[in-house]
Amino acid sequence: QAKRLQSQNLAYRAGMEDETARLISWESELLAAMQKNEFVLYFQPQINLRSNQLDAFEVLVRWQHPQKGFLMPGQFLSFVEQLGFSRQLDFWILQRAIQTISEWRQLGLHVPLAVNMSPLHFQQDGLKQKIQELLMQYKVSPELLELEITENTAMHDMEKGSNHVMELQQMGIRVSIDDFGTGYSSLAYLRRMPIDKIKIDRSFVMDMAGNDSDMMIVKTMIKLAHGLGKRILAEGVETSIQLDLLKSMSCDAVQGYHFSKPLTESDAIIYCKRQLSS
Ligand code: C2E
Ligand code: CA
Ligand code: CA
Ligand code: CA
Repeated sequence: QAKRLQSQNLAYRAGMEDETARLISWESELLAAMQKNEFVLYFQPQINLRSNQLDAFEVLVRWQHPQKGFLMPGQFLSFVEQLGFSRQLDFWILQRAIQTISEWRQLGLHVPLAVNMSPLHFQQDGLKQKIQELLMQYKVSPELLELEITENTAMHDMEKGSNHVMELQQMGIRVSIDDFGTGYSSLAYLRRMPIDKIKIDRSFVMDMAGNDSDMMIVKTMIKLAHGLGKRILAEGVETSIQLDLLKSMSCDAVQGYHFSKPLTESDAIIYCKRQLSS
């Protein structure tokens, strides 16, 4: 018995060492990746349902890894967070996004970009100053930048969270709540947070057409948002049935594969130009 326990313990420790080794290897790769610009921005259109036109793009990060290949955020963001690199990566992405806004403006394209903020980072000080610096450096107007935060982000400390949102708002930057409905205390959150836009999580949109309660939830979220004077966007719209339902419920905007998958920068530029000429 004792022997078995001992060998289990050893196996457990070996497992821990594996895990530590894995994290250390990710750490050096992450540092190198930021220096070598291995992270790539993708852009997914957000479509206004009233005008049927492009409202903005959401920025989604990918990692073109020299050995592991093309990595999706689900494959590396948890390591980024565990290693304490969220802030650095967020800043890197913000810088690239603001630079992109300024480059697109030179092409005559004035399209807002929505950037995801990692929960831990959003609560730290220094974010506003950094954004202010970048906007000045690239001469970008704050109206063209939007931040997406999740409910849990500021839930931690609602008072502090709502102050952060308020200050960003005063700078002219819009803030939206991502994955709405999947966190906790959504309603208390809405009451306290001076946000502009709510994004309904894909999980509700997905089953809406075949599930009465999901349909009811989506309908209610849209009413709630409008009642509070906020805009509402549905995520993960994949079919024309979902689109028609959302239109009939007066949803303001949608995002999803039905319109477009996340695009490379050059495809996003083509997408914008096509919109302008149509
Ligand atoms: P999210 O912010 O909720 O982003 C939406 C995700 O849903 C994206 O996955 C997008 O590609 C995917 N998606 C969009 N439309 C559809 C659809 O119609 N059907 C389906 N099945 N999926 C759809 P992605 O790019 O893999 O990103 C996953 C998550 O990783 C994001 O969820 C976000 O939480 C995080 N993330 C992505 N990029 C960044 C970033 O630059 N910074 C930070 N902090 N987080 C990011
Ligand atoms: Ca998002
Ligand atoms: Ca989302
Ligand atoms: Ca999500």
